[in-house]
Amino acid sequence: MRTITMANGEAVEVECLSCALVNGVIEPEGGVVVETEHFHAHQDVAYPIPGLIILASKRHLKSLDELTEAERLDYITILSKIRKAQREVLGIESVYYFYNEDTTHHFHTWMVPRYGWMYEFGRSVESVRPVLLHARNEMNDDANVRNVRQAIAALTEELKR
Ligand SMILES: [Zn+2]
Repeated sequence: MRTITMANGEAVEVECLSCALVNGVIEPEGGVVVETEHFHAHQDVAYPIPGLIILASKRHLKSLDELTEAERLDYITILSKIRKAQREVLGIESVYYFYNEDTTHHFHTWMVPRYGWMYEFGRSVESVRPVLLHARNEMNDDANVRNVRQAIAALTEELKR
């Protein structure tokens, strides 16, 4: 078991954070952006970057090659829909995607939008960690958090269509 401290300061013990999120044990701050038969998407508000989405499988698995055919189809379809929504409602031109199979959670893909300010941290994969840390440590002001919430609402609305 691991103890997760929520944004409101409450501590929750979970076996797997992804399972807790997709099963509704933990409600992601900002809510569920979109849900399909096999996947669940939310914004990780710990990193206040508008449109940063975590897409997690509902089933507890670690690796891409464990996905069933139905899950693979659902995955690429919803990933593409979220990408399109990021472009259409948030004007996001580029997204970095990554997932790691040795996570302590389960299968989840990060969709990290690129914004102009990020290029001061460099380009490509080596800039991702500094960008995330900068967002977490320096961008948690009310105005930016409001932007993030508006982005969540806009994506959620767009993905209902
Ligand atoms: Zn899990």
